[in-house]
Amino acid sequence: MTGLGTGRVTLVGGGPGDEGLLTIAGARALADADVVLYDRLAPHTKLDVLAPNALLIDVGKQPGHHPVSQRGIEARMIAHAEAGAHVVRLKGGDPFVFGRGGEEVIACTAAGIAVTVIPGVTSAISVPAAAGIPLTHRDVSRLFTVVSGHAPLSEAELGHLAGLGGTIVVLMGVGTLPTLTQGLLRHGARADLPVAVIERGYSSTQRTTISRLDAIVTDAAVAEVESPAVLVIGDVVRLSHLAACAGLAELRYDAAGPDGR
Ligand code: SAH
Repeated sequence: MTGLGTGRVTLVGGGPGDEGLLTIAGARALADADVVLYDRLAPHTKLDVLAPNALLIDVGKQPGHHPVSQRGIEARMIAHAEAGAHVVRLKGGDPFVFGRGGEEVIACTAAGIAVTVIPGVTSAISVPAAAGIPLTHRDVSRLFTVVSGHAPLSEAELGHLAGLGGTIVVLMGVGTLPTLTQGLLRHGARADLPVAVIERGYSSTQRTTISRLDAIVTDAAVAEVESPAVLVIGDVVRLSHLAACAGLAELRYDAAGPDGR
């Protein structure tokens, strides 16, 4: 502890789950931490080594189940910093990509607590990469859009997305997959557009299911696809070595973990 009134907060993007994808700046902040509040999707299994002097607090959220509310997390962060601690708020991926990091910065600033943000490797880009899918590729896609599937998209949003012609990446999208795919098809997206669902990226149980826009809902149900997963919709999916193994029209499983990618 550094003494009353001198506490601070560091928001750290922990990457998609593998400690190897934590930044050096993030690891340094953890090594210096007095308190670490971590999420379910943040790399937390080796925190005893990465943050050896810290009090470790699990504020992890399961989908639909919030052990500690967002306001509760902010209140704890602030209380520990006010008591003089260097508080690290360890989040999955990048703190500012659907991570509520902005809200936490605002809460700290409003409480007069100094806060710094260390960006992280977002799952939006890195989880597709783990399945061999580049989000952009010369002559295939020159743009990608990252969308939250937490709530269904509006008709206007679906229309824009379908018309863009680039790669669509969806986070938190397993539950809304049927409405998304139906909406895109309704707005003119190609039925044979390749779709990949990559579950549990960078874990030993990583799995990729590849299908097409008009068949992914059935194929994902057969495969019992679960959250956390990143969805990639677009022709770049064809570039994955997993897609190259067989015709894209067929459902493809890859049960192999990170070593078999
Ligand atoms: N801030 C995070 C995203 C938080 S939203 C980031 O930048 O990565 C949580 C969603 O991220 C999950 O529902 C899932 O869609 C995705 N996600 C995060 N880590 C993942 C992983 N290891 N494998 C697959 N999806 C992941």
